[in-house]
Amino acid sequence: MKIFPDDRIFEVVAKVADREQVEAYVIGGYVRDHIMGRENPDRDIDIVVIGDGPAMARAVAREIGRDIRVTVFRTFGTAMFRYRDYDVEFVGARKESYSEDSRKPSVIPGTLEDDQNRRDFTINALAISLNKENPGEVLDPFGGIEDIRNGIIRTPLDPDATFSDDPLRMMRAVRFATGLGFRIEEGTLASIARNAKRISIVSSERITVELNKIMAAATPSTGFLLLEQTGLLPLILPEISKLSGVEDKDGKGHKDNFHHTLKVLDNAAEKSDDLWLRWAALLHDVAKPLTKKFVPGTGWTFHGHEFLGAKMVPEIFKRLKLPLNDRMKYVRKLVGLHLRPIALVQDEVTDSAIRRLLFEAGDDIDDLMLLCEADITSGNMMKVRKHRENFALVRRKLREIEEKDAVRTFQPPVHGDEIIEAFGIPPGPMVGVIKSAIKEAILDGVIPNDHQAARDFMIKKGRELGLEPR
Ligand code: ATP
Ligand code: MG
Repeated sequence: MKIFPDDRIFEVVAKVADREQVEAYVIGGYVRDHIMGRENPDRDIDIVVIGDGPAMARAVAREIGRDIRVTVFRTFGTAMFRYRDYDVEFVGARKESYSEDSRKPSVIPGTLEDDQNRRDFTINALAISLNKENPGEVLDPFGGIEDIRNGIIRTPLDPDATFSDDPLRMMRAVRFATGLGFRIEEGTLASIARNAKRISIVSSERITVELNKIMAAATPSTGFLLLEQTGLLPLILPEISKLSGVEDKDGKGHKDNFHHTLKVLDNAAEKSDDLWLRWAALLHDVAKPLTKKFVPGTGWTFHGHEFLGAKMVPEIFKRLKLPLNDRMKYVRKLVGLHLRPIALVQDEVTDSAIRRLLFEAGDDIDDLMLLCEADITSGNMMKVRKHRENFALVRRKLREIEEKDAVRTFQPPVHGDEIIEAFGIPPGPMVGVIKSAIKEAILDGVIPNDHQAARDFMIKKGRELGLEPR
């Protein structure tokens, strides 16, 4: 196969390579994606040269023009610059050898073949020549093109050595299978299962990067099924792995919460690209195993799993080195509230219940509704249809109430200062009592959400508590 990617960067590298008498190749993800006719999601181009990578980067940058800044990573012997919207990285071809306890190899210069040997998968080991002798020739020592055609993830060399050397590759295998819709070749898959424990030498940050890429795929469930099947999931997200399985008692079973969770995740992914909404979907039932009880006559219950689940979110985020900022709070909030919309439609849809939900969900109400709808996974079509209809009703009510009362971005219409001023009392618990009475009155629909009504209510409430306005 011969292809010379149609972009000026490759012309320039070829020209400089010829002038400097260095061999250069495009390698890795760019080549894979180019052959697949797909845009590289990370927008990076890897160039491998037989020789000094940083020196080549500088020469190419000079050739392109003055304003290109080259960043050199001394410890890795690599260099990169930005060109148009690409990150172009240069590395000298290398041979690697690994030790037991680290995924960082010791490195010596090598040939193109050495460099291809150290690549993780056949589809990632493809190189395109940028040299005068064979421009555009695809160098494919491991049948990567064939594997792309058949949709197969396979290691170039012995999979046990590949995964034991750098166990992050196991996560990458699952990630590529999920993102590209490929399957992992049997020998490679069995090797991941054998080497799963080695994942312990990989940092949480690295694992999480791959987890997030799995989450971002069109059908994230594929990845979680593979992680579970290979034994990686119990090591990296035991809480989700534990959702697996069903128990039977007195002829009553419950659904397999692992498969249910994955369905909810896929449903959410179909409706939204938002990574954090997807995390909320993955974690929404996380506390079910811990809250599971068998109640004779009733069956299985998971009472309070939404509250306990919300409490578990920060711990899980911390362990995975996910951000502990408002993203975490958003996920925690959605997990905590995920039963509320459905509880609403099962009871009577009262204005005050709607108002309370709006108040607690705030601007995340639409995402919460989306999650809750994704949570309807019953196999019973009648039941699903009925739920969906009820949901339409809740949505309509939400809009009505929001237009009328604007509680979504609730701001107390009477502030603490005004209470202190009105009764001439010092700051203290009494102020809080009156404030929260006002909030409750608004949410219950006793008074409208406006200043005058809230002020009148404040006076009345104060009097009840033995205070006199000044
Ligand atoms: P994407 O950009 O979609 O994440 P990619 O294949 O470009 O996919 P990168 O992480 O950008 O992945 O790495 C570029 C190339 O470097 C890969 O195609 C692969 O050849 C090689 N590579 C990256 N990480 C590893 C690893 N852990 N072990 C072996 N080879 C790797
Ligand atoms: Mg890449």
